[in-house]
Amino acid sequence: MRIQEPPRGSQRRSFSRIPTGAWIPAVSPSGNAPVWNLDGSQQIAVPSAPRDVDVLVIGAGQAGLAIAHELQRRGFSGYVDDDARHPRTSTPASDTPTLDTSASRGTYLVLDAENRPGGAWQHRWPSLTMATVNHIADLPGFPAGPIDPTSESADWVPTYFSEFEEEFDLPILRPVLVTSVIDDNTSSGSQPRLLAHTTAGTFRARALVNCTGTWTRPFIPYYPGAAKFRGIQCHTQDYPGVRAFEGRRVVVVGGGVSALSHLDDLDGVAKKILWVTRTPPRWHGPFTGENTSTTGADGRGLTAEFGKEVEHKVRQRVESGLAPLPVVATTGLPINDFTRSLHARGLTNRKPMFTSVEADGVAWADGKYWQADAIIWATGFRAELRHLMPLGLRVHGGGIVMDGTHVAHDPRIHLLGYGPSASTIGARWASRHAAKDIVEYLGS
Ligand SMILES: Cc1cc2nc3c(=O)[nH]c(=O)nc-3n(C[C@H](O)[C@H](O)[C@H](O)COP(=O)(O)OP(=O)(O)OC[C@H]3O[C@@H](n4cnc5c(N)ncnc54)[C@H](O)[C@@H]3O)c2cc1C
Repeated sequence: MRIQEPPRGSQRRSFSRIPTGAWIPAVSPSGNAPVWNLDGSQQIAVPSAPRDVDVLVIGAGQAGLAIAHELQRRGFSGYVDDDARHPRTSTPASDTPTLDTSASRGTYLVLDAENRPGGAWQHRWPSLTMATVNHIADLPGFPAGPIDPTSESADWVPTYFSEFEEEFDLPILRPVLVTSVIDDNTSSGSQPRLLAHTTAGTFRARALVNCTGTWTRPFIPYYPGAAKFRGIQCHTQDYPGVRAFEGRRVVVVGGGVSALSHLDDLDGVAKKILWVTRTPPRWHGPFTGENTSTTGADGRGLTAEFGKEVEHKVRQRVESGLAPLPVVATTGLPINDFTRSLHARGLTNRKPMFTSVEADGVAWADGKYWQADAIIWATGFRAELRHLMPLGLRVHGGGIVMDGTHVAHDPRIHLLGYGPSASTIGARWASRHAAKDIVEYLGS
């Protein structure tokens, strides 16, 4: 944890934690698809004559805000919407340090499916405080200042994002869900355009920056019998908080930091906790001595060197068209004060994955059985790219072949928060690269 002072200024507002976001946080009975909740009838794309914008950004989480700021800094001006329902307009804020303000390079617009600022952070579970998150990197040009470690990340981060949006007067329309992106077959020339169908009409763009994160695509692996389980089942995404598990026997599935956070949460509340993972956790060292060399001075975030190593490995993977692996597969698990405390409380005693789920528990192939009242699937997320499916970007490896931040064969399309840039720090460097490439592409 960086700073132990109260939150910056009394002007920092607090949002209500009622989940008013774009999706209902519930694992749907049919699988793990999120349920979008854009005021019922608005869930489908609204046809309209395409409105032209040079750069369309989809998603206003950390990645979307970082690229919006970078485009503004490079002289793009906010898209001015003629539609009275969305009167938001913007020009570069006078105090934005710009690289070139001699003339507008074009327009940009951010569409976000949420009802309010914060990206996925507004939906994080209550016990994920600013002290228990890994580390939240600053947004560009807007240091977060002192952080109250006890504040919920679902309050603190959205408030910080909201202040950033206001400070730079970013042109963000919400809630607007992009339902599909297709090639505009009517456009000709060397730079064919893209059409984004949305719940607020159609936008035609010369370049697209996709920043839709992963939160809306929770992943739950298939285990026989899971549908017949009589107890509570949830994913990290719809984890209801610790009260729901009081006095219960709970299985936590998964080997990443979310699973560790749930174990910590449930300790002393659940009757019994069983932690299972597919493969043994890769701890960075023994649970003795100092924090490992892979963690930063605060013992939680990763050091810059280790972060670069991880980024390099992930980049190699996505540049060869393979789907990104779960974060923990590349980072492993740090030894720090938090994990040492889990260990001291006997919570790191992990068991191998069960092979099936029964009505009242979980079972292994060798006949072992553990009675359970609840299963928490901390089994990660996939990239939210369903609206890009019509573009046919996926290759046989299951991923998208990337070249830096753009799709290798399509310099119009950038994916931020995908692969090596899927962290708050990654969003920052990736937005600089993407904006530079976009300027070159549009100018060519
Ligand atoms: C539990 C958890 C904890 C994490 N903790 C950390 C941490 O401590 N430090 C760190 O660096 N990273 C962390 N990460 C990783 C990552 O940095 C965060 O997930 C971060 O929120 C990603 O930012 P983003 O901008 O890519 O996506 P998001 O914050 O998910 O924002 C995506 C936005 O796009 C919108 N959207 C999605 N689809 C559409 C669509 N079709 N049309 C319009 N809008 C759409 C969403 O509504 C959302 O507003 C964590 C991830 C998870 C899951």
